[in-house]
Amino acid sequence: MTRLLLATHNQNKVRELRRLLQDDPQLQGRVEVLSFADIGYHTDVPENGATFAENALIKAHAGAALGYVTVADDSGLEVDALGGAPGIFSARYAGEPCSDAANNEKLMLEMQAVPDEQRTAAFVCTIACVFPDGRQFTVRGECRGRMLRAPLGEGGFGYDPYFLSDDLGCTLAQASEEQKNAVSHRGRAMRQFCRKVVDYLAP
Ligand code: IMP
Repeated sequence: MTRLLLATHNQNKVRELRRLLQDDPQLQGRVEVLSFADIGYHTDVPENGATFAENALIKAHAGAALGYVTVADDSGLEVDALGGAPGIFSARYAGEPCSDAANNEKLMLEMQAVPDEQRTAAFVCTIACVFPDGRQFTVRGECRGRMLRAPLGEGGFGYDPYFLSDDLGCTLAQASEEQKNAVSHRGRAMRQFCRKVVDYLAP
């Protein structure tokens, strides 16, 4: 059994990732999933990378330095007409303290003059895995869609109510959790991660 440390203080992420990892047919019974809280690690890791991958690697290296095989993710929204913004700044686009409502308000203002056919965007998620012996890999998942001008749906979080998924034909806030996982950037990255990590685990 390999112990996998999830490098996050966000308990929602821990729950979601733990379920995905423990339910994966290839990983079932092969990994024990721990979180920062489980090992009593309460330090905030500074996310000062320039890309999703750099930020995910910074967090994963923090756990690997403690001796654990460590998994970390970083995600956000890239709007084509804004040159990829808010990107790595998605969580704090409208400044601190982080607020989904303020972020969405700022985004809608920035996009006011962007015509419908140019409102394309993608949610992006990079997952990094770092081993105490120095081996590492990253995987990336994308979910493409377009930004609406008004919110639709009550589910999800963040920018979901404004993001019309190309795959689903509704916003991510209108989708069930299962539907969202099937097409989301995080779901896609996680499925790639599960396929890839198997090659790194002891038989
Ligand atoms: P992080 O990966 O927790 O750093 O997420 C960064 C930010 O990106 C979040 O605070 C949200 O604003 C945005 N974001 C990431 N994933 C999603 C998603 O699935 N739906 C909506 N917003 C998201």
